[in-house]
Amino acid sequence: MTAIRRTKIVATLGPASTPPDVLERMIVAGVDVVRLNFSHGDVNAFIPLAERILSTADKVGRTVAILADLQGPKIRIGRFRQDKVFLEVGQDFTLDASLDSQSGDEHQVGIDYPQLVKDVGAGDTLLLDDGRVVLGVEDVVGNEVRCKVKIGGYLSNNKGINRLGGGLSAAALTDKDKNDIQIAAKIQADYVAVSFPRSAEDLNYARRLLRDAGGDGGIVAKLERAEALEVMDEIILSCDAVMVARGDLGVEIGDAALPPIQKKIISRARQLNTAVITATQMMESMIENAIPTRAEVFDVANAVLDGTDAVMLSGETAVGNNPIKVIEAVDRISLQAEQQREIRRSRHRIDSEFEKVDEAIAMGAMYLANHLDVKAIAALTLSGSTATWMSRISSGIPIFALTPNDKTSRKMTLYRGVYPVKFAVEERGHATLNNAVIALLERNGVVEIGDTVILTKGNARLEGSTNTLKIVRVGDVD
Ligand code: PGA
Ligand code: MN
Repeated sequence: MTAIRRTKIVATLGPASTPPDVLERMIVAGVDVVRLNFSHGDVNAFIPLAERILSTADKVGRTVAILADLQGPKIRIGRFRQDKVFLEVGQDFTLDASLDSQSGDEHQVGIDYPQLVKDVGAGDTLLLDDGRVVLGVEDVVGNEVRCKVKIGGYLSNNKGINRLGGGLSAAALTDKDKNDIQIAAKIQADYVAVSFPRSAEDLNYARRLLRDAGGDGGIVAKLERAEALEVMDEIILSCDAVMVARGDLGVEIGDAALPPIQKKIISRARQLNTAVITATQMMESMIENAIPTRAEVFDVANAVLDGTDAVMLSGETAVGNNPIKVIEAVDRISLQAEQQREIRRSRHRIDSEFEKVDEAIAMGAMYLANHLDVKAIAALTLSGSTATWMSRISSGIPIFALTPNDKTSRKMTLYRGVYPVKFAVEERGHATLNNAVIALLERNGVVEIGDTVILTKGNARLEGSTNTLKIVRVGDVD
Protein backbone atom coordinates (compact mmCIF):
# COMPACT_ATOMS: atom_id res chain seq x y z
CA MET A 1 0.00 0.00 0.00
CA THR A 2 1.42 3.42 -0.87
CA ALA A 3 1.29 5.96 1.92
CA ILE A 4 -1.90 8.02 2.12
CA ARG A 5 -1.58 11.63 3.23
CA ARG A 6 -2.76 11.98 6.84
CA THR A 7 -2.82 15.78 7.06
CA LYS A 8 -5.95 17.27 5.53
CA ILE A 9 -6.22 20.19 3.12
CA VAL A 10 -8.77 23.00 3.53
CA ALA A 11 -9.08 25.14 0.40
CA THR A 12 -10.91 28.46 0.17
CA LEU A 13 -13.05 28.84 -2.93
CA GLY A 14 -13.14 32.04 -4.94
CA PRO A 15 -13.05 33.23 -8.55
CA ALA A 16 -9.92 31.16 -9.25
CA SER A 17 -11.48 27.90 -8.09
CA THR A 18 -15.17 28.00 -8.94
CA PRO A 19 -15.05 27.12 -12.66
CA PRO A 20 -16.39 23.52 -12.72
CA ASP A 21 -13.29 21.93 -14.24
CA VAL A 22 -10.97 23.66 -11.74
CA LEU A 23 -13.09 22.65 -8.75
CA GLU A 24 -13.11 19.06 -9.91
CA ARG A 25 -9.35 19.00 -10.49
CA MET A 26 -8.77 20.53 -7.04
CA ILE A 27 -10.85 17.81 -5.40
CA VAL A 28 -9.03 15.11 -7.36
CA ALA A 29 -5.71 16.71 -6.35
CA GLY A 30 -6.65 16.20 -2.70
CA VAL A 31 -8.88 18.89 -1.17
CA ASP A 32 -10.65 17.47 1.91
CA VAL A 33 -12.61 20.52 3.07
CA VAL A 34 -13.70 23.55 1.04
CA ARG A 35 -14.07 26.90 2.78
CA LEU A 36 -16.80 29.27 1.65
CA ASN A 37 -15.67 32.69 2.80
CA PHE A 38 -18.73 34.72 3.81
CA SER A 39 -16.60 37.90 3.90
CA HIS A 40 -16.68 38.08 0.13
CA GLY A 41 -19.24 37.98 -2.61
CA ASP A 42 -22.93 37.22 -2.75
CA VAL A 43 -23.69 34.67 -0.05
CA ASN A 44 -26.76 33.40 -1.95
CA ALA A 45 -24.43 32.11 -4.63
CA PHE A 46 -23.15 29.61 -2.03
CA ILE A 47 -26.41 27.65 -2.23
CA PRO A 48 -25.93 26.32 -5.78
CA LEU A 49 -22.16 26.18 -5.22
CA ALA A 50 -22.58 23.87 -2.22
CA GLU A 51 -24.67 21.50 -4.33
CA ARG A 52 -22.02 21.52 -7.01
CA ILE A 53 -19.28 20.75 -4.47
CA LEU A 54 -21.13 17.71 -3.14
CA SER A 55 -22.05 16.39 -6.57
CA THR A 56 -18.51 16.86 -7.87
CA ALA A 57 -17.06 15.07 -4.83
CA ASP A 58 -19.55 12.27 -5.41
CA LYS A 59 -18.64 12.04 -9.07
CA VAL A 60 -14.92 11.63 -8.39
CA GLY A 61 -15.49 9.39 -5.36
CA ARG A 62 -14.02 11.58 -2.61
CA THR A 63 -15.42 12.79 0.71
CA VAL A 64 -15.36 16.59 0.88
CA ALA A 65 -16.73 18.67 3.76
CA ILE A 66 -18.04 22.24 3.52
CA LEU A 67 -16.83 24.89 5.96
CA ALA A 68 -18.91 28.10 6.05
CA ASP A 69 -16.64 30.85 7.41
CA LEU A 70 -18.58 33.80 8.86
CA GLN A 71 -17.20 37.29 8.38
CA GLY A 72 -17.42 38.37 12.02
CA PRO A 73 -16.83 41.88 13.33
CA LYS A 74 -13.83 42.78 11.25
CA ILE A 75 -13.55 46.55 11.65
CA ARG A 76 -12.84 48.33 8.40
CA ILE A 77 -12.11 51.80 7.10
CA GLY A 78 -14.44 53.32 4.50
CA ARG A 79 -13.58 54.13 0.89
CA PHE A 80 -11.35 56.80 -0.61
CA ARG A 81 -12.50 59.16 -3.35
CA GLN A 82 -9.45 58.09 -5.36
CA ASP A 83 -9.64 54.42 -4.22
CA LYS A 84 -6.25 54.68 -2.55
CA VAL A 85 -3.97 57.22 -0.91
CA PHE A 86 -0.31 57.37 0.04
CA LEU A 87 0.45 58.09 3.70
CA GLU A 88 3.82 59.59 4.65
CA VAL A 89 5.51 58.67 7.91
CA GLY A 90 4.92 61.41 10.50
CA GLN A 91 1.88 62.99 8.82
CA ASP A 92 -1.50 63.41 10.58
CA PHE A 93 -4.32 61.06 9.62
CA THR A 94 -7.81 60.86 11.15
CA LEU A 95 -10.29 57.98 11.35
CA ASP A 96 -13.62 59.77 11.44
CA ALA A 97 -16.76 57.86 12.42
CA SER A 98 -19.00 60.69 11.17
CA LEU A 99 -17.37 61.03 7.76
CA ASP A 100 -19.44 59.48 5.00
CA SER A 101 -18.08 56.11 3.97
CA GLN A 102 -17.14 57.10 0.42
CA SER A 103 -15.20 60.31 1.01
CA GLY A 104 -11.76 59.43 2.34
CA ASP A 105 -8.65 61.34 1.26
CA GLU A 106 -5.02 61.61 2.41
CA HIS A 107 -6.07 63.36 5.64
CA GLN A 108 -9.03 61.31 6.81
CA VAL A 109 -11.25 58.29 6.16
CA GLY A 110 -14.56 56.91 7.50
CA ILE A 111 -14.88 53.79 9.69
CA ASP A 112 -17.69 51.21 9.73
CA TYR A 113 -17.66 50.80 13.53
CA PRO A 114 -18.57 54.02 15.38
CA GLN A 115 -17.80 52.36 18.74
CA LEU A 116 -14.10 52.51 17.82
CA VAL A 117 -13.88 56.04 19.24
CA LYS A 118 -14.85 54.64 22.67
CA ASP A 119 -12.55 51.62 22.43
CA VAL A 120 -9.28 53.43 21.69
CA GLY A 121 -7.31 56.19 23.37
CA ALA A 122 -4.12 58.25 23.09
CA GLY A 123 -1.06 56.00 22.98
CA ASP A 124 -2.77 53.08 21.24
CA THR A 125 -1.32 51.58 18.07
CA LEU A 126 -3.68 50.73 15.21
CA LEU A 127 -2.69 48.33 12.47
CA LEU A 128 -4.34 48.75 9.10
CA ASP A 129 -4.29 46.31 6.21
CA ASP A 130 -2.78 43.49 8.32
CA GLY A 131 -0.14 45.83 9.69
CA ARG A 132 1.12 47.23 6.39
CA VAL A 133 0.17 50.71 7.63
CA VAL A 134 0.56 51.61 11.31
CA LEU A 135 -1.06 54.57 13.09
CA GLY A 136 -0.32 55.93 16.55
CA VAL A 137 -3.38 57.42 18.27
CA GLU A 138 -2.65 60.97 19.48
CA ASP A 139 -6.07 61.98 20.67
CA VAL A 140 -9.76 61.08 20.45
CA VAL A 141 -12.07 64.06 19.94
CA GLY A 142 -15.80 63.47 19.41
CA ASN A 143 -16.10 61.06 16.50
CA GLU A 144 -12.51 61.51 15.42
CA VAL A 145 -9.58 59.26 16.21
CA ARG A 146 -6.62 61.54 15.45
CA CYS A 147 -3.45 59.69 14.57
CA LYS A 148 0.11 60.10 13.35
CA VAL A 149 1.40 57.73 10.69
CA LYS A 150 4.14 55.49 12.13
CA ILE A 151 4.55 53.21 9.13
CA GLY A 152 3.42 54.74 5.86
CA GLY A 153 2.53 53.44 2.45
CA TYR A 154 -0.47 52.99 0.22
CA LEU A 155 -3.83 52.53 1.90
CA SER A 156 -6.82 51.47 -0.18
CA ASN A 157 -10.59 51.06 0.30
CA ASN A 158 -12.15 48.97 3.10
CA LYS A 159 -8.93 47.72 4.69
CA GLY A 160 -9.20 46.10 8.13
CA ILE A 161 -8.23 47.76 11.42
CA ASN A 162 -6.76 45.92 14.42
CA ARG A 163 -5.49 47.32 17.70
CA LEU A 164 -2.10 46.11 18.87
CA GLY A 165 -2.78 43.99 21.96
CA GLY A 166 -6.43 43.43 21.00
CA GLY A 167 -9.32 44.59 23.14
CA LEU A 168 -11.76 46.06 20.61
CA SER A 169 -15.24 45.47 21.97
CA ALA A 170 -17.19 44.38 18.88
CA ALA A 171 -19.46 41.37 19.53
CA ALA A 172 -18.44 38.20 17.71
CA LEU A 173 -21.67 37.79 15.76
CA THR A 174 -22.90 40.68 13.64
CA ASP A 175 -26.36 40.97 12.06
CA LYS A 176 -24.83 39.82 8.79
CA ASP A 177 -23.37 36.74 10.53
CA LYS A 178 -26.79 35.89 11.96
CA ASN A 179 -28.30 36.01 8.47
CA ASP A 180 -25.41 34.02 7.06
CA ILE A 181 -25.95 31.30 9.67
CA GLN A 182 -29.36 30.74 8.04
CA ILE A 183 -27.61 30.12 4.73
CA ALA A 184 -25.02 27.86 6.35
CA ALA A 185 -27.92 25.81 7.76
CA LYS A 186 -29.64 25.72 4.41
CA ILE A 187 -26.60 24.36 2.60
CA GLN A 188 -26.09 21.89 5.49
CA ALA A 189 -22.53 23.11 6.06
CA ASP A 190 -20.49 20.48 7.89
CA TYR A 191 -18.64 23.18 9.82
CA VAL A 192 -19.40 26.82 10.58
CA ALA A 193 -16.45 29.05 11.54
CA VAL A 194 -16.94 31.90 14.01
CA SER A 195 -14.54 34.79 13.43
CA PHE A 196 -13.04 36.74 16.35
CA PRO A 197 -14.73 34.81 19.20
CA ARG A 198 -13.81 36.13 22.65
CA SER A 199 -15.21 33.35 24.82
CA ALA A 200 -17.03 30.03 24.95
CA GLU A 201 -20.28 32.00 25.12
CA ASP A 202 -19.74 33.39 21.59
CA LEU A 203 -19.38 29.84 20.30
CA ASN A 204 -22.33 28.45 22.23
CA TYR A 205 -24.45 31.30 20.93
CA ALA A 206 -23.41 30.59 17.33
CA ARG A 207 -24.17 26.89 17.80
CA ARG A 208 -27.60 27.73 19.22
CA LEU A 209 -28.43 29.97 16.26
CA LEU A 210 -27.24 27.28 13.85
CA ARG A 211 -29.30 24.55 15.54
CA ASP A 212 -32.37 26.82 15.63
CA ALA A 213 -31.93 27.34 11.89
CA GLY A 214 -31.88 23.56 11.41
CA GLY A 215 -28.12 23.19 10.85
CA ASP A 216 -26.14 20.41 12.49
CA GLY A 217 -22.60 21.41 11.49
CA GLY A 218 -19.67 21.53 13.89
CA ILE A 219 -18.43 24.89 15.19
CA VAL A 220 -14.93 26.12 14.33
CA ALA A 221 -13.42 28.79 16.60
CA LYS A 222 -10.97 31.07 14.82
CA LEU A 223 -8.33 32.10 17.34
CA GLU A 224 -7.55 35.59 16.10
CA ARG A 225 -7.92 37.92 19.08
CA ALA A 226 -5.29 38.45 21.73
CA GLU A 227 -7.87 38.07 24.51
CA ALA A 228 -9.09 34.73 23.13
CA LEU A 229 -5.69 33.27 23.98
CA GLU A 230 -6.28 34.02 27.66
CA VAL A 231 -9.29 31.66 27.62
CA MET A 232 -7.82 29.23 25.11
CA ASP A 233 -8.89 26.05 26.94
CA GLU A 234 -12.47 27.18 27.42
CA ILE A 235 -12.68 28.05 23.72
CA ILE A 236 -11.10 24.77 22.60
CA LEU A 237 -13.49 22.81 24.80
CA SER A 238 -16.56 24.51 23.39
CA CYS A 239 -15.96 23.93 19.69
CA ASP A 240 -15.37 21.05 17.30
CA ALA A 241 -12.26 22.52 15.71
CA VAL A 242 -10.02 25.54 16.31
CA MET A 243 -8.24 27.52 13.64
CA VAL A 244 -4.82 29.06 14.21
CA ALA A 245 -5.86 32.24 12.36
CA ARG A 246 -2.37 33.56 11.85
CA GLY A 247 -3.46 36.57 9.79
CA ASP A 248 -5.46 38.55 12.31
CA LEU A 249 -3.83 36.96 15.35
CA GLY A 250 -0.39 37.94 14.10
CA VAL A 251 -1.53 41.53 13.74
CA GLU A 252 -2.81 41.62 17.33
CA ILE A 253 0.02 39.83 19.12
CA GLY A 254 2.92 40.55 16.74
CA ASP A 255 4.28 38.16 14.12
CA ALA A 256 7.15 36.91 16.27
CA ALA A 257 4.73 35.58 18.88
CA LEU A 258 2.99 33.33 16.33
CA PRO A 259 5.29 30.27 16.05
CA PRO A 260 5.24 29.32 19.75
CA ILE A 261 1.50 30.06 19.95
CA GLN A 262 0.79 27.83 16.94
CA LYS A 263 2.58 24.94 18.66
CA LYS A 264 0.73 25.56 21.90
CA ILE A 265 -2.72 25.75 20.26
CA ILE A 266 -2.12 22.57 18.26
CA SER A 267 -0.93 20.58 21.23
CA ARG A 268 -3.71 21.87 23.51
CA ALA A 269 -6.36 21.08 20.87
CA ARG A 270 -5.08 17.52 20.60
CA GLN A 271 -5.06 17.09 24.36
CA LEU A 272 -8.62 18.39 24.65
CA ASN A 273 -10.01 16.18 21.84
CA THR A 274 -10.58 19.02 19.40
CA ALA A 275 -9.45 19.20 15.77
CA VAL A 276 -7.15 22.00 14.64
CA ILE A 277 -6.58 23.85 11.35
CA THR A 278 -3.46 25.92 10.67
CA ALA A 279 -4.27 28.87 8.43
CA THR A 280 -3.04 31.85 6.44
CA GLN A 281 -0.10 32.60 4.17
CA MET A 282 1.11 29.02 4.14
CA MET A 283 1.79 29.12 0.40
CA GLU A 284 1.28 32.84 -0.17
CA SER A 285 3.82 33.23 -2.96
CA MET A 286 1.98 30.58 -4.99
CA ILE A 287 -0.80 33.10 -5.56
CA GLU A 288 1.63 34.33 -8.22
CA ASN A 289 4.22 31.60 -8.66
CA ALA A 290 4.10 27.97 -9.74
CA ILE A 291 6.37 26.75 -6.91
CA PRO A 292 6.51 27.65 -3.21
CA THR A 293 9.44 29.35 -1.51
CA ARG A 294 11.68 27.19 0.65
CA ALA A 295 10.28 29.02 3.69
CA GLU A 296 6.74 28.00 2.69
CA VAL A 297 7.80 24.37 2.20
CA PHE A 298 9.18 24.43 5.75
CA ASP A 299 6.07 26.18 7.10
CA VAL A 300 3.72 23.45 5.84
CA ALA A 301 6.10 20.69 6.96
CA ASN A 302 6.49 22.27 10.40
CA ALA A 303 2.73 22.57 10.87
CA VAL A 304 2.49 18.86 10.02
CA LEU A 305 5.22 18.07 12.55
CA ASP A 306 3.44 20.23 15.13
CA GLY A 307 0.52 17.82 14.72
CA THR A 308 -2.09 19.93 12.93
CA ASP A 309 -5.09 18.11 11.50
CA ALA A 310 -5.30 20.35 8.49
CA VAL A 311 -3.49 23.04 6.57
CA MET A 312 -5.61 25.82 5.09
CA LEU A 313 -5.19 27.72 1.83
CA SER A 314 -6.83 31.14 1.42
CA GLY A 315 -5.92 33.45 -1.46
CA GLU A 316 -3.78 30.65 -2.89
CA THR A 317 -6.86 28.78 -4.08
CA ALA A 318 -9.44 31.61 -4.01
CA VAL A 319 -7.74 34.13 -6.28
CA GLY A 320 -4.33 32.62 -7.12
CA ASN A 321 -2.86 31.64 -10.47
CA ASN A 322 -2.17 28.06 -9.40
CA PRO A 323 -5.09 26.56 -7.47
CA ILE A 324 -4.23 22.99 -8.46
CA LYS A 325 -0.45 23.19 -8.23
CA VAL A 326 -0.70 24.58 -4.70
CA ILE A 327 -2.75 21.58 -3.57
CA GLU A 328 -0.25 19.23 -5.17
CA ALA A 329 2.53 21.06 -3.33
CA VAL A 330 0.82 20.80 0.08
CA ASP A 331 0.07 17.16 -0.66
CA ARG A 332 3.68 16.18 -1.38
CA ILE A 333 5.17 18.28 1.45
CA SER A 334 2.74 16.86 4.04
CA LEU A 335 3.27 13.31 2.86
CA GLN A 336 7.02 13.53 3.34
CA ALA A 337 6.83 15.40 6.63
CA GLU A 338 4.57 12.65 7.95
CA GLN A 339 7.31 10.09 7.36
CA GLN A 340 9.28 11.67 10.22
CA ARG A 341 8.11 9.77 13.21
CA GLU A 342 9.43 11.71 16.18
CA ILE A 343 5.95 12.84 17.15
CA ARG A 344 4.63 9.32 16.97
CA ARG A 345 5.34 8.14 20.49
CA SER A 346 2.82 10.16 22.32
CA ARG A 347 2.38 10.49 26.07
CA HIS A 348 -1.14 11.70 25.41
CA ARG A 349 -3.43 11.00 28.39
CA ILE A 350 -0.93 8.55 29.80
CA ASP A 351 -1.77 9.63 33.36
CA SER A 352 -5.50 10.25 33.08
CA GLU A 353 -8.59 8.14 33.69
CA PHE A 354 -11.26 7.48 31.08
CA GLU A 355 -14.87 8.19 31.86
CA LYS A 356 -16.45 6.37 28.97
CA VAL A 357 -16.08 2.85 27.65
CA ASP A 358 -16.05 3.96 23.99
CA GLU A 359 -13.29 6.48 24.70
CA ALA A 360 -11.27 3.85 26.56
CA ILE A 361 -11.61 1.46 23.61
CA ALA A 362 -10.44 4.17 21.20
CA MET A 363 -7.39 4.92 23.36
CA GLY A 364 -6.66 1.24 23.86
CA ALA A 365 -6.74 0.71 20.09
CA MET A 366 -4.18 3.46 19.56
CA TYR A 367 -1.89 2.13 22.28
CA LEU A 368 -1.93 -1.28 20.60
CA ALA A 369 -1.53 0.24 17.14
CA ASN A 370 1.64 2.02 18.22
CA HIS A 371 3.13 -1.05 19.92
CA LEU A 372 2.23 -3.86 17.56
CA ASP A 373 2.83 -4.34 13.86
CA VAL A 374 -0.60 -3.16 12.71
CA LYS A 375 -1.47 -2.22 9.14
CA ALA A 376 -4.73 -0.40 9.72
CA ILE A 377 -7.43 0.45 12.22
CA ALA A 378 -11.06 -0.08 11.27
CA ALA A 379 -13.46 1.81 13.52
CA LEU A 380 -17.22 1.38 13.14
CA THR A 381 -18.80 4.65 14.19
CA LEU A 382 -22.13 6.45 13.98
CA SER A 383 -21.34 9.85 15.47
CA GLY A 384 -17.62 9.94 14.62
CA SER A 385 -16.49 10.27 18.25
CA THR A 386 -14.33 7.16 18.10
CA ALA A 387 -12.46 8.62 15.13
CA THR A 388 -12.01 11.96 16.91
CA TRP A 389 -10.41 10.32 19.95
CA MET A 390 -8.23 8.01 17.88
CA SER A 391 -6.95 10.81 15.68
CA ARG A 392 -5.74 12.79 18.73
CA ILE A 393 -3.01 10.17 19.22
CA SER A 394 0.09 10.46 17.06
CA SER A 395 0.52 7.36 14.93
CA GLY A 396 1.43 6.41 11.41
CA ILE A 397 -1.43 3.91 11.17
CA PRO A 398 -4.40 4.81 8.93
CA ILE A 399 -7.75 4.95 10.73
CA PHE A 400 -10.58 3.80 8.47
CA ALA A 401 -13.78 5.14 9.95
CA LEU A 402 -16.70 3.04 8.72
CA THR A 403 -20.08 4.69 8.93
CA PRO A 404 -23.43 4.53 7.18
CA ASN A 405 -23.88 8.25 7.82
CA ASP A 406 -22.76 10.72 5.09
CA LYS A 407 -22.72 13.67 7.46
CA THR A 408 -20.45 11.83 9.88
CA SER A 409 -18.19 10.94 6.93
CA ARG A 410 -17.82 14.56 5.92
CA LYS A 411 -17.21 15.72 9.48
CA MET A 412 -14.49 13.12 10.04
CA THR A 413 -12.68 13.99 6.83
CA LEU A 414 -11.07 16.93 8.66
CA TYR A 415 -9.33 14.65 11.17
CA ARG A 416 -5.71 13.76 10.68
CA GLY A 417 -5.15 10.16 9.61
CA VAL A 418 -8.88 9.39 9.39
CA TYR A 419 -10.39 8.11 6.15
CA PRO A 420 -14.18 7.86 6.06
CA VAL A 421 -15.58 4.76 4.36
CA LYS A 422 -19.26 4.20 3.66
CA PHE A 423 -20.47 1.06 5.39
CA ALA A 424 -24.08 -0.03 5.58
CA VAL A 425 -25.43 -1.24 8.90
CA GLU A 426 -27.26 -4.51 8.71
CA GLU A 427 -28.16 -7.08 11.28
CA ARG A 428 -25.39 -9.59 11.17
CA GLY A 429 -23.43 -11.81 13.51
CA HIS A 430 -19.98 -10.85 14.71
CA ALA A 431 -18.11 -13.13 12.34
CA THR A 432 -20.04 -11.96 9.26
CA LEU A 433 -19.53 -8.34 10.25
CA ASN A 434 -15.79 -8.74 10.87
CA ASN A 435 -15.34 -10.51 7.56
CA ALA A 436 -17.32 -7.83 5.72
CA VAL A 437 -15.10 -5.09 7.18
CA ILE A 438 -11.88 -6.88 6.27
CA ALA A 439 -13.19 -7.68 2.79
CA LEU A 440 -13.97 -3.99 2.29
CA LEU A 441 -10.44 -2.95 3.30
CA GLU A 442 -8.99 -5.63 1.01
CA ARG A 443 -11.13 -4.44 -1.89
CA ASN A 444 -9.84 -0.89 -1.30
CA GLY A 445 -6.28 -2.21 -1.50
CA VAL A 446 -5.32 -1.05 1.99
CA VAL A 447 -4.65 -4.48 3.53
CA GLU A 448 -3.66 -7.91 2.23
CA ILE A 449 -3.45 -11.49 3.47
CA GLY A 450 -1.31 -11.71 6.60
CA ASP A 451 -1.75 -8.06 7.69
CA THR A 452 -2.96 -7.28 11.19
CA VAL A 453 -5.98 -4.99 11.59
CA ILE A 454 -7.50 -3.56 14.77
CA LEU A 455 -11.27 -3.49 14.61
CA THR A 456 -13.47 -1.54 17.04
CA LYS A 457 -17.25 -1.72 17.16
CA GLY A 458 -20.34 -1.77 19.34
CA ASN A 459 -24.06 -1.81 18.74
CA ALA A 460 -24.23 -0.68 15.13
CA ARG A 461 -27.42 1.28 15.73
CA LEU A 462 -26.50 3.06 18.94
CA GLU A 463 -24.27 6.14 19.21
CA GLY A 464 -21.57 5.91 21.86
CA SER A 465 -21.87 2.14 22.16
CA THR A 466 -18.36 1.08 21.05
CA ASN A 467 -17.32 -1.62 23.51
CA THR A 468 -15.34 -4.16 21.49
CA LEU A 469 -11.79 -4.29 20.22
CA LYS A 470 -10.64 -7.18 18.11
CA ILE A 471 -7.29 -7.93 16.50
CA VAL A 472 -7.80 -9.67 13.18
CA ARG A 473 -5.29 -11.23 10.82
CA VAL A 474 -6.39 -10.81 7.23
CA GLY A 475 -7.01 -14.22 5.74
CA ASP A 476 -7.69 -16.04 9.01
CA VAL A 477 -11.18 -17.41 9.32
CA ASP A 478 -13.00 -15.61 12.15
P1 PGA B 1 -9.57 35.26 7.62
O1 PGA B 1 -9.16 34.44 8.90
O2 PGA B 1 -8.85 34.66 6.45
O3 PGA B 1 -11.03 35.12 7.54
O4 PGA B 1 -9.11 36.63 7.97
C1 PGA B 1 -7.93 33.78 9.05
C2 PGA B 1 -6.86 34.63 9.67
O5 PGA B 1 -7.11 35.72 10.18
O6 PGA B 1 -5.70 34.13 9.66
MN1 MN C 1 -9.09 36.54 10.21
